[in-house]
Amino acid sequence: MTKISGWGNYPIIETKEASFDRAKEVINLIKSKDSFIARGNARSYGDSALYSNTISSQRYNRMLAFNEDEGIFTCEAGVLFSEILDVVVPKGWFLPVTPGTKFITVGGAIASDIHGKNHHKEGSFSQHLMQFELACADGTVKTCSREENSDLFEATCGGMGLTGVILTATFKLKAIETAYINQTQTKAKNLDEIIDLFQQHEAVTYSMAWIDCLKGGKQFGRSILITGEHATKDELSQKQAKAPLHLPEKKKLNIPFNFPSFALNEFSIKAFNALYYAKNIRRVSSSVIPYEPFFYPLDAILNWNRMYGKKGFVQYQFVLPLETSKKGLTDILERIRKKGLGSFLAVLKLFGEQEDLISFPMKGFTLALDFPIKKGLFEFLDELDKVVVSYGGRIYLTKDARMDAKVFWETYPHIDKFVDIVKKYNPQGKFTSLQSQRLLIK
Ligand SMILES: Cc1cc2nc3c(=O)[nH]c(=O)nc-3n(C[C@H](O)[C@H](O)[C@H](O)COP(=O)(O)OP(=O)(O)OC[C@H]3O[C@@H](n4cnc5c(N)ncnc54)[C@H](O)[C@@H]3O)c2cc1C
Repeated sequence: MTKISGWGNYPIIETKEASFDRAKEVINLIKSKDSFIARGNARSYGDSALYSNTISSQRYNRMLAFNEDEGIFTCEAGVLFSEILDVVVPKGWFLPVTPGTKFITVGGAIASDIHGKNHHKEGSFSQHLMQFELACADGTVKTCSREENSDLFEATCGGMGLTGVILTATFKLKAIETAYINQTQTKAKNLDEIIDLFQQHEAVTYSMAWIDCLKGGKQFGRSILITGEHATKDELSQKQAKAPLHLPEKKKLNIPFNFPSFALNEFSIKAFNALYYAKNIRRVSSSVIPYEPFFYPLDAILNWNRMYGKKGFVQYQFVLPLETSKKGLTDILERIRKKGLGSFLAVLKLFGEQEDLISFPMKGFTLALDFPIKKGLFEFLDELDKVVVSYGGRIYLTKDARMDAKVFWETYPHIDKFVDIVKKYNPQGKFTSLQSQRLLIK
């Protein structure tokens, strides 16, 4: 037995972990009596990739085809985004959608239907996905796309591994001229201002804001909006222009052990926020920077999740419809501030329209907050869930470790259809996770 957890280090469980580097091994496991869940690189925060039996795709990681003229890429599900970037960026291509870490697998990207800083313009990962092969509960391998086995395609994108094991995938890349981003940072004094700024910058491809959740009064919701576009060759400095598609090597910091639980508290977070806000001296500043610090600032610190101590943490990410976003965000941030439960990482993004079967995004604002696990936290998050529900929002499954089934069933509008498809293709619950059991998806 092996101890495993998601990125939040909560919960930690024992599992019998299998792994595969041939599709046949997955089929053999499917034919055994055990139920199990697929695992990628364990960057989901909660319990979606946890169960007493698991199968890891990490060895199933060959790149299969790269059409350099059209930017079409095919690989096995265990290939990491970081590995794809290493191959495609020097050829002038980039991932169509990427989350805040490049250490996720292609299988994990599909199962969570991940979004990035460009959702308002370019949608989620599944919108760039041409097809995938899925090992199903009956031991067959099915090719799925929006045209072929379309019900399975829809239920697998965002379906958290409950329809089968994704084996290979083909998706479209986006063309870039350089490996750099033309970034602009704009300070916002408060929540009203940041919401207006997002809307003024809707035409820009990438945007997100860091938001200070502990400030009250006139500075309530003060933030820094970070926007960016892939830089053109003309925008590079002389030094950068020497090798526009290659980045200089950077050393990574490591957090070698869990921090003591007192290290992160209201005071240290307030101090961090004050420094971070002050660091950006001018109201608006622009620079051309490598794509890595723009998309993956946290990847520069390996194992940063240990900062939250042995008990782990929960990332709470919700989305609210555009019409209720301002009121709902004010309500939620006010509750967090009053509770003194500030989050180091509080990231606000604007989503565009999306109405798929089980994917998380909807048109509106999404906020992600990290909370170290401590007494009273889960009761407080239950209270926040009710607020999210009352404003018509929902919670992101790939971050979740504790939501009540009732909240989930109330907030995902196509849940009945999703569960029907899961039941049709996974009738004996062959693919089961702790999350699917908790959320009563069966
Ligand atoms: C620092 C950080 C920043 C992040 N930022 C974002 C963000 O901006 N946007 C966003 O959308 N997400 C974000 N995430 C979450 C992350 O992108 C997703 O959780 C992603 O699914 C993780 O992929 P993984 O390979 O680690 O999968 P795992 O965590 O191992 O698994 C996640 C889910 O995918 C399923 N799965 C994995 N492989 C397969 C397979 N082969 N077949 C079927 N199912 C499979 C699992 O069963 C599980 O349900 C972030 C995570 C971190 C740590």
